[in-house]
Amino acid sequence: MSRPVPNPGILDIAPYTPGKTPVPEPGRKVFKLSANETPFGPSPKAKDVYLQAAAHLEDYPEGTSRVLREAIGRAYGLDPNRIICGAGSDEILNLLAHTYLSQGDEAISTAHGFLVYPIATMANGASNVVAPETNFTADIDAILARVTPRSKLVWLANPNNPTGTYVPFDEVKRLRAGLPAHVLLVLDAAYSDYVSRNDYELGLELVATTENTVMTHTFSKIHGLAALRIGWMFGPANIVDAVNRIRGPFNVSTPAMLAAVAAIEDTAHIQMSKAFTEKWRNWLTEEITKLGLKVTPSVANFVLVHFPEKGKTSARADAFLTRSGLVLRALNNYGLPHSLRMTIGTEEANRLVVEALRDFMAAK
Ligand SMILES: *Cc1c(COP(=O)(O)O)cnc(C)c1O
Repeated sequence: MSRPVPNPGILDIAPYTPGKTPVPEPGRKVFKLSANETPFGPSPKAKDVYLQAAAHLEDYPEGTSRVLREAIGRAYGLDPNRIICGAGSDEILNLLAHTYLSQGDEAISTAHGFLVYPIATMANGASNVVAPETNFTADIDAILARVTPRSKLVWLANPNNPTGTYVPFDEVKRLRAGLPAHVLLVLDAAYSDYVSRNDYELGLELVATTENTVMTHTFSKIHGLAALRIGWMFGPANIVDAVNRIRGPFNVSTPAMLAAVAAIEDTAHIQMSKAFTEKWRNWLTEEITKLGLKVTPSVANFVLVHFPEKGKTSARADAFLTRSGLVLRALNNYGLPHSLRMTIGTEEANRLVVEALRDFMAAK
C-alpha cells in the first residue's frame, strides 16, 4: 500500500450527521428543534462561573474532574471514586468501546438506537449487531436472542433517542440477568431527567451491585451545556480503573467542570425545565395526533412524529417546516425514513410547529 490504511472497520462507518443547521427564508426567525437542546440554556449560575474561569486559562485543569465528580456524587448519592467525567458522553462511550471491544467482537444495539453506538463499535474493529425493536421500543428478548460467544457489549439508551421510548427497570434487570457476566451493559441515561414514570430508573442499583454494568449521563440536555462537552459515567471499580488508564489526562476543561458543578446544584432550574417539557410534550402529542399524524409516546424532551409513506410524506413536511424556520430532525440514517423528531422548544416554537403542520396537512 502506498498510503496509510485506516484500521479495520473505520471505513465501514457512515459518518455521523448532526441536526442540520437551519437555512430558512430570508428574514425569518429560526427555531432549531433538531438537536434536543434545551430552550432555556444553562443555569445562569453556570454561565457566571464559566465566565469567571476565564481569569485562569493558562492553568491545566485538575485531571480527575474531582470537584465535578463530588458534585455528581452529592446529587445522586454516589461514590465519586466510581465516577469518570469526559468531553461529552460521546467521549465516555468511545472510551468504553476502546477498552472492551476489538476485532472479532460483537456489540449489540437496537434498531433505532443512538448512532454513536455503531460508530464507537466499528471504530474498534468490532461488529455492530442490531436487535429489532417492538413499537419503537428496545425489545429485551430480541437483544438476548442476538447474544453469541462473540458478544462483548450491549448499548441501551434509556430513554432512547430518537424514539423517546423507555424500558421499565424490571426489564433492564431482566436484560442484565440474561446476559453473560463478561458482557458489558452500557445504560445511557442522557434523558433520564425528563422521565417521570414509576417504573423507570437510571440503573444505579445495577451498577452498584454488579461488575459489568455502567451508566452514562450528560450535561448536554437538561443542564443546557452541550457546547461545553461534559458527560460522565458511574461504574464498578474494575471498569473505572480500566477506562481511567486510557482517558486523556486533562479531558475536561476547568470552565466546563465548574459550570457543570453550578448546573447540577441548580435544582430549581432543572425542575422548571422538567415541568415545562412535560407540559409541552403532552400538548404536542395531543395536538399533532389531532392532525391525523401518529406520535410515539415519549418520556424525553422530544417527540417522534410519523408521516404517511405517500402524499404527506416526512420529506415534504420537513421542507415545508424548514421554509417556515422550524427545523426538525429527519431520521433516514436512523432507519426511520418516514418520521421526524421534534425537540420540544419554547411555547412560541411549539405552537408554530403545530400551526405549520396543520397548514401542511390541509394543503392540496
Ligand atoms: C444527546 C445524547 C447524549 C449526549 O451526548 P454528549 O456527548 O454528552 O453531548 C448521549 N446519548 C444519547 C442517546 C443522546 O441523545
